[in-house]
Formats: sequence, C-alpha cells, structure tokens
Amino acid sequence: MSAIGDSPAAAPLVRLALNGALPMLNHPRVLLVKGHTEWPPREGANMRPAKALLTLSLVGVIFGPPSARAYDVPARLTEVAHVYSLGVGEIRCPSETEWSADFASSFSSAYTNLRDDYTVLGPRVCAGALNVGTATVPGWQQALGVLVLTHEAFHLRHWRFRRDEGKVECQALVYFRDAAQRLGATASQAEDLYPYALALHSYKVRLFPQYRDPACLVPPWSPPPDS
Ligand SMILES: [Zn+2]
Repeated sequence: MSAIGDSPAAAPLVRLALNGALPMLNHPRVLLVKGHTEWPPREGANMRPAKALLTLSLVGVIFGPPSARAYDVPARLTEVAHVYSLGVGEIRCPSETEWSADFASSFSSAYTNLRDDYTVLGPRVCAGALNVGTATVPGWQQALGVLVLTHEAFHLRHWRFRRDEGKVECQALVYFRDAAQRLGATASQAEDLYPYALALHSYKVRLFPQYRDPACLVPPWSPPPDS
C-alpha cells in the first residue's frame, strides 16, 4: 500500500527497506528529515537542500492518507517469503495504478515496511516471482522476482541484520536457487536463473554500494557439465 495511515506531522520515523534492484538513475538518493521525508528529487525539480542525505536503505515515511485497497496478497509469494522471514510479514502485489501512485515506484522496484511487517513488490517483480519456471516472462524477470522477494523476506525477518542491505542481499543470493525452486522452478531452471541473479546483484551494487557485503560468500555459478 502506498498509504500507511500516518500523517506526515504525526508520523514516527519509520524505516522502509527499499530494494533498489531497478532504481531510476536520476534518483540515486532520497532526502530525509526526521518525521518527514522529502520526495526523491526529479530532474529539474527545485528541491530545497536537505538536512540529511541518506541512501535508499534509509527512508522515512511520507505517505498520505490511506487509499482503498488495490493490491493482491498472493498466497504463494507470502508462503515462500515466510520460509526466510520465519513466518513474519505479508507480500503485497499492487495494481499498476496503485504502484504508479506509490512514491517508491519512482526509484525502486519494491520496499518493505519494517514497522508493520509487509512488503510491496512492484508489478514487474510480482509477475516475475509468480511465473518462475514458465515461459510467460523472460528469465531475467523471473530472477528479479526471486531475488527481490527473497531479499525483502530477509528484511521482514526479525534478525539483527534486517536493516543491513548488504547482509540481506547476501542471504538472498545464498538462498536464491532454493527460493526459485519453491516458486516453481526445477533444479535445472534454478541453475539457469542464477546467472541473472548475479548480474542483477552486480547492477545493484554498481549503483548502490551498500548492497555489497564484503564478508558475503556469494555462491558461485558454473556452467552445467556436458551431458
Ligand atoms: Zn533491501
């Protein structure tokens, strides 16, 4: 949902773990003032200088009043997420209209509300995750769905590193192939999707270094043996 129900004035600072898998390049940062968040600057926008510049992983609430529900809660996505979140949270797939009205859609492909324990996946991510193992969507999009869903599941999980993008991303890579199979891929298809996940990870790290955990042992990929 784009609306959490807090008025900007009364809203406590809530951190949203934003997944920048496909961020817009003109939105490399967002502006944060405690209790109120500036919108990410658009090209040509006349923004006041912010008191604090934080990266995408540290974003406060700026939501307006609640709107009517216009999202699905796909049971399969929530069930798979619960494997990694240890049963915490809900996975939401908004309509295109709702997603485009959500401020996060301007610079991110998904986000997690850490206070209320829910994740919102953009339509492209949802379509990818819901069609893993099929020929309905391209492989890269399936991998995006798996990687982002798993990443957000580790934000939902109540563990010490849930706010650490690097640690969360590392776990998403470690469990990528497992998650792909839980979402419908065969073991072979999961292997075929993994290089896309590594490429998406590299893309993300190139734009936002905080997604890289220097201590992460990223599982390697090797071409399948000759049959
Ligand atoms: Zn994240």
